[in-house]
Amino acid sequence: MKRVLITGAAGFLGSHLCDRFIKEGYHVIGMDNLITGDLKNIEHLFKLEHFEFYHHDVSKFVYVPGELDYILHFASPASPIDYLKIPIQTLKVGSLGTHNLLGLARVKKARILIASTSEVYGDPLVHPQTEEYYGNVNTIGPRGVYDEAKRFQESITMAYHRFHGLETRIVRIFNTYGPRMRLNDGRVIPAFIGQALRGEDLTIFGDGMQTRSFCYVDDQVEGIYRLLLSDYAYPVNIGNPDEITIKDFAEEIIKLTGTEQKIVYHPLPENDPLQRQPDTTKAKEILGWEAKVSRSEGMKLTYEYFKSLPKEELLKEAH
Ligand code: NAD
Ligand code: UDP
Repeated sequence: MKRVLITGAAGFLGSHLCDRFIKEGYHVIGMDNLITGDLKNIEHLFKLEHFEFYHHDVSKFVYVPGELDYILHFASPASPIDYLKIPIQTLKVGSLGTHNLLGLARVKKARILIASTSEVYGDPLVHPQTEEYYGNVNTIGPRGVYDEAKRFQESITMAYHRFHGLETRIVRIFNTYGPRMRLNDGRVIPAFIGQALRGEDLTIFGDGMQTRSFCYVDDQVEGIYRLLLSDYAYPVNIGNPDEITIKDFAEEIIKLTGTEQKIVYHPLPENDPLQRQPDTTKAKEILGWEAKVSRSEGMKLTYEYFKSLPKEELLKEAH
């Protein structure tokens, strides 16, 4: 039986990855310090013989007994609200945490996949973003703590690949959504749905003309799974190219939820990217992958999930 370590296991993507690897017949070791995650996301796995969980901060030395075939490093705050609130931990988990896991992968002779992000492109000057684009990041801006941690993460991963011959994979994840996102994590989808469910106005930052391209979690997990098992060591974009302005997206949420609330406008956060759309040619060619779940289908499933949460959860304000 193959053994896989997944960091960030109690988070949104990490928990879905745990489910997928369990389903594929792996022994799954989850690790998380619960700084932005929640054990509720993986509590259904605790009864399984082939699931283990370590409560640990991966920015500190990481040790796991026994063999490992694969490591997926997903630990990191991922929403702007989170990484603005815990900037040093964000820098540390992308740098020190990644270094620790690369070291562990070397000792265990394991293949490692690291979770990078479309944020390495910053506020992009090339559209759509191809993997060849070097990006446009403000190193000292408030988002820089996340973007630069992830850029360093990619660099050290390639250095381990080139210098130590380690088997490495880099996924550049574009905005992904679905059940188990934290309702108060500040990202636009939980923010808008939470506002609609609480009967509050929907808050658009800026004029709403900025764009994003939203990928449903099942598609993202499939792309990551295929990349891990591929033999391609360079970064691959995984995302849904269906691009929409935040204003049009807010209108879609109003229709989906039937809310009678209106849209209100707040200032655009500093360095908020104006356009984002993945070029997924590489994913198609190398992995035979493309997003399958439409935004309307994915958003219905996501809305159902948020509606099913206990009321106390719903009433928690964005922190
Ligand atoms: P999330 O906040 O739901 O999950 C992150 C998990 O990592 C949490 O459970 C948190 O407790 C854990 N964690 C953070 N620091 C840790 C540390 N030092 N030690 C151990 N655990 C730690 O976020 P997510 O959306 O699931 O994102 C997961 C990964 O995917 C992140 O690396 C993120 O940068 C990347 N990513 C996500 C998206 C997206 O749209 N969801 C986009 C691009 C990149
Ligand atoms: N956004 C918004 N209202 C909100 C939360 C976010 O208009 O209540 C905007 C945000 O400024 C950004 C887009 O929605 O332009 C996506 O934000 P998110 O935090 O989800 O992801 P990221 O900026 O990291 O892509």
